[in-house]
Amino acid sequence: MKNTQSAFDKYESSARTYCRTFPVVFSKAQGARLFDENGNQFIDFLAGAGALNFGHNSPIIKQGVIEYLEGNGLVMALDLHSTEKRRFIDAFQKYILKPRDLSYKMQFTSPTGTSVIESAVKLAKKWTKRETIVSFTNGFHGMTGLSLSLTGSSHHRQATAYGNTFRLPYDGYLGDGINTMAYFRKLLEDKSSGLDLPAAVVVETVQGEGGLNTASIEWLQELRNITEQYGILLIVDEVQSGCGRTGKFFSFERASIKPDLVCLSKSIGGMGLPFALLLTRPDIDIWQPGEDNGTFRGNNLAFVASRIAIEHYWATNEFELQVEHKAKIITEFLSGLKSSFSQYIGSVKGIGIMQGVEFLDPEVVPGIINLCFGKGLIVESCGNQGQVLKIMAPLIIDEVDLLSGLKIIEDCISSYASYNSCTSNNIKQNLSLTAE
Ligand code: PLP
Repeated sequence: MKNTQSAFDKYESSARTYCRTFPVVFSKAQGARLFDENGNQFIDFLAGAGALNFGHNSPIIKQGVIEYLEGNGLVMALDLHSTEKRRFIDAFQKYILKPRDLSYKMQFTSPTGTSVIESAVKLAKKWTKRETIVSFTNGFHGMTGLSLSLTGSSHHRQATAYGNTFRLPYDGYLGDGINTMAYFRKLLEDKSSGLDLPAAVVVETVQGEGGLNTASIEWLQELRNITEQYGILLIVDEVQSGCGRTGKFFSFERASIKPDLVCLSKSIGGMGLPFALLLTRPDIDIWQPGEDNGTFRGNNLAFVASRIAIEHYWATNEFELQVEHKAKIITEFLSGLKSSFSQYIGSVKGIGIMQGVEFLDPEVVPGIINLCFGKGLIVESCGNQGQVLKIMAPLIIDEVDLLSGLKIIEDCISSYASYNSCTSNNIKQNLSLTAE
């Protein structure tokens, strides 16, 4: 093995995370598979935390990008008009927005998820001339100042204090029978509730980092009704749940709602290229030129990759049907796991190809992830205590790899269970020996 591992330990910041769970050096990737420097291969159930819906090095996307580079296509262009930007805009309008009867202006913000959230919130504050932003328990929206203020996790927020954020309980947070939208409505009705009329509500329809909590259709519709009634802008964070992850291109489609602003990043880059897109109700787009600026806005390589992905996967509903089919396989498999290992698993969570199982004891999860890794599967956890084992395979994964990955999870939970019962039997035996 090359002596590169030490370079990371020696020189790379201790802020690094994923590489600690999967301590090999990766060198190649294709489809739903990753390869390390020693030629070991892994099925990828992490998919760049949702940035690789269309897989690693998709042949058709990669070919387009190579041809573009070989033809000296413009790469860095700030926000200058370019042929590829126009082609991307036309494709996005034609295949994504028009068929869904959606009318939005398209803003190419700085390319990360957190930047597009920041842009959306700044614009909402400017348009409404209000300050308060509502977000939800266990929501995750990024790690820069404004986005971080909306994020629920105290681990991520650390000691940083940000004002003007009001956090509401997400759907289901207070238990099954409690309608948290009724609470929101009550707060807005009561002038003494302490909640000033918000500029916007920022919501994920499925909480990707927060534990795959999934808002019900009724809850989302009620949120849309309330925000409309009070003139509050509804910002849907599709950074992780968008681009087909939940089955539809936008995760809000299942609730038949139309947000005022929509934030896309991660998989909108086509093959993992950095790219973010803010969709804005046309009348809200009141920016002055350069008011929301950034050097890297709309990278042309990402325009190429994204356009090809859109033309290839979203021209018909075939891809949606395939995702739906795989999602069903996952749901059935996870429901089976829950029945077989009810002593460990509390529930099946999520929708589409962002599903998982919630363990009763969060401490079990790192061990299972490690066992899976040893058997050639990259899978991560989410949730406020890391209690949810999360399946985020690329959407293009074939059924063979999908089933192999799921089987590895089952085998590893099974190994864990037998090791555990073996250990506790030994303890019991030892205890009874001592008692005798
Ligand atoms: N919003 C959601 C829902 C996310 O899942 C993430 C990242 O995981 C972000 C925003 C932030 O994206 P980025 O890490 O690209 O800044």
